[in-house]
Amino acid sequence: MSDHGRVIVVGAGPVGVVAAMAAARRGFAVTIIEEATEVMEDPRASTFHPSTLEMLDELGIIDEFISRGLVARYFDYWDKPAHELVARFDHEVLAEETKFPFVVQTEQHKLSRMGLRRLGEMPDVDVRLGTSFETVEQTATGVVAHVRGPDGPERVEGAWLIGCDGGRSTVRKSQGIEFEGYTWPERFVVLTTLFDFADAMGCSPRAYLADPHEWTNLFKVAGDDMQGRWRVVFPTAVDETDEEALSDASAARRLAGVWPDAGAGELVHRKIYRVHQRVAASFRQGRVFLAGDAAHVNNPIGGLGLNCGIHDVMDLLDTLDEVTRGAEPDLLDRYERRRRELNIRFVQDQTVNNKKRLEERDPAVRRANLDNLRATAEDPARARAFLRRTSLLDSVRDSQAIA
Ligand SMILES: Cc1cc2nc3c(=O)[nH]c(=O)nc-3n(C[C@H](O)[C@H](O)[C@H](O)COP(=O)(O)OP(=O)(O)OC[C@H]3O[C@@H](n4cnc5c(N)ncnc54)[C@H](O)[C@@H]3O)c2cc1C
Repeated sequence: MSDHGRVIVVGAGPVGVVAAMAAARRGFAVTIIEEATEVMEDPRASTFHPSTLEMLDELGIIDEFISRGLVARYFDYWDKPAHELVARFDHEVLAEETKFPFVVQTEQHKLSRMGLRRLGEMPDVDVRLGTSFETVEQTATGVVAHVRGPDGPERVEGAWLIGCDGGRSTVRKSQGIEFEGYTWPERFVVLTTLFDFADAMGCSPRAYLADPHEWTNLFKVAGDDMQGRWRVVFPTAVDETDEEALSDASAARRLAGVWPDAGAGELVHRKIYRVHQRVAASFRQGRVFLAGDAAHVNNPIGGLGLNCGIHDVMDLLDTLDEVTRGAEPDLLDRYERRRRELNIRFVQDQTVNNKKRLEERDPAVRRANLDNLRATAEDPARARAFLRRTSLLDSVRDSQAIA
């Protein structure tokens, strides 16, 4: 049994499994509590930036993670109505700053599965699927989580509790913490198709298409069969119903708007999401912490939300480790000082601006935005600065400077 104390992680989504692995590797005993009985496969994150790949490397899972996805050195911006490539960014300009000058596109459910399998092989790790967190009590030296498993209510004792239980976080609500921000009036539709956009249009595996009427994001993922498929993300109209947005006719119309033949491609999945920009008013209440979507949510343009969540828990476990080894408890506030501010400065700011840039309606502003992207991609120094920010390398490096 570890003498480092027990960390209770609520939620075995990708942030929770990374938190649990990071805790176990630092010598904590771990209980991870997940209400579902199996990993959800809905199409959400697939873009993992260099800053996050460095952390997955530290956890010893990078080779398996890369082998289950696609390595994407380039990403694009396109002018959708003109069917024209505007800018292609090459992560190779980051080669002197990171061991991973590329993005890896691996679906998030693969990370959760990989993590759960590895946690199952680790000593002092207790994985509880089919178990819901209900509430938590705190004492001066620890926490008691009240959970409900297949055999009814239970108490789980630990030193710390981390809420990685997603945007609707029960942990956050149990602490009475506000989720400040707003919800976009439109929803985002994700269509998954076997139509090969790279083959048809010559785009990179990640491409952002600006369009004043209906912007689009294209992502290639490997799929569980490793045969390749494309996720295509669109906004709905504000007054469009979910049923209309997900209908065969809408799907075919939207895909054909990206590339004429795409409407006839085989559609393998469709899903609609409500999208928010929200940050918890506080990331810590005593021995209870929030991380990942429980702490912050944002629109997915730029692929930042999960990356930031993984950065949260890596920073938090370092902090808990330092305090457990004797650092002053005041250090615990550093987690919120770092992670809340960086989420607002990098993730909220960039995702809102990414959306505005893609949907810009004013022709002059739109032209200036696209010209600016083109000029940035063509100038190696500007491209490097741009990619340091979009890949959250600056965010992680800046966080070290916040004491
Ligand atoms: C279309 C789309 C595309 C995206 N693309 C990207 C991308 O490319 N890159 C990126 O960085 N981000 C992306 N995101 C965001 C990313 O999906 C989320 O940030 C990520 O899922 C957050 O992970 P999480 O572990 O914090 O939360 P979740 O994935 O929501 O996991 C929370 C877990 O907690 C469990 N849980 C909830 N309540 C309880 C309870 N009471 N007790 C026990 N368990 C509980 C849930 O069952 C779930 O397993 C995208 C999102 C969408 C919608």
